[in-house]
Amino acid sequence: MTEIKSLTIEELRAALADMGEKPFRAGQIFGWLHRGVESFDEMTNLSKDLRQRLAERFVLTVPTVARKQVSRVDGTIKYLWRLRDGDCVESVLMHYEHGVSVCVSTQVGCRMGCKFCASGLGGLKRHLSAGEILDEILFMQKDSGETVSNIVLMGTGEPLDNYDNVLKFLHLVSCPEGINIGQRHISLSTSGIADKIEALAGEKLQITLSVSLHAPDDETRSSIMPVNQAYPVERLMRACRYYFDTTGRRISYEYMMARDKTDRPWQAEQLAKLLRGRPAHVNLIPLNEVAESPLSPSKPETVRRFQQALEKRGITATVRRKLGPDIDAACGQLRRRELRENTAL
Ligand code: SAH
Ligand code: SF4
Repeated sequence: MTEIKSLTIEELRAALADMGEKPFRAGQIFGWLHRGVESFDEMTNLSKDLRQRLAERFVLTVPTVARKQVSRVDGTIKYLWRLRDGDCVESVLMHYEHGVSVCVSTQVGCRMGCKFCASGLGGLKRHLSAGEILDEILFMQKDSGETVSNIVLMGTGEPLDNYDNVLKFLHLVSCPEGINIGQRHISLSTSGIADKIEALAGEKLQITLSVSLHAPDDETRSSIMPVNQAYPVERLMRACRYYFDTTGRRISYEYMMARDKTDRPWQAEQLAKLLRGRPAHVNLIPLNEVAESPLSPSKPETVRRFQQALEKRGITATVRRKLGPDIDAACGQLRRRELRENTAL
């Protein structure tokens, strides 16, 4: 059966026409769905008969809260959702001065195998559907009572490895008839699947692309990110150039600071050289320690020096503020713990 929340409003209109219904019903139903209703019976402006026929024809996904942690320091909320087949994914809700930002997952697990990442440790279990990604946002809004204004696709999973569903999600979430979050308020983070970056450029979206670079040289990057063997730094940078040339949108580069691995002075220099002449922004992320990984975080003064070295060479760089320091910080850690404690999952 089709998941109703994975349908665009146009697809929903067509499905309703097939059922002999008026097209305006699609707007009503879409509106209910984006408010996070948990059954068709909640759609009180539809006839009982129509609600019943919808229930017979479509699946309505309703994730449940498997775990929830609220930071006492800054109110950040981390959710672990249980999906209809029992799989779990996590999302985070953060409060910023300019609104509420959420970080959502795009896959159950991840097959990219980055050495520092808790999400990739168990490999890929499955892709999330467009509706399931949307659900993370709908049900965070419902549970917290907050209105989400910004979205980052930086939870578990490689968004460009689930390209079609992620693209559909981007259309759903920015649809005026639904929760209508503008694409300029959405960031997509990728480990660097170069040909998919080029494909994405062709979609002409207004989103911000974030590239997890983490090292400017192939030797280091390949040793922590297997994707670099398929798409080495030069190939990746070519795709990034193409993305900017096609969309005119500045790219954000994520750079993880790992002690004696990615934080050496020559790497700052090489990174600056790589980005010279490109509209770019570098986000320095202090590494979150993951029990299974031998990497450790850089010292704060090393991060500062690295940032200064970039700025001196004309590259804008900021250090990411850590939210929710008292709850499992790095993406993937909550699901990891759940898997460890409950191996039946
Ligand atoms: N798969 C995508 C998006 C999800 S990961 C990607 O890799 O870009 C989101 C970000 O968290 C990426 O920049 C990733 O490299 C980073 N990350 C993963 N594990 C981390 C850790 N232990 N410490 C710091 N950053 C981490
Ligand atoms: Fe996957 Fe991103 Fe984690 Fe790498 S960092 S394993 S791409 S989720």
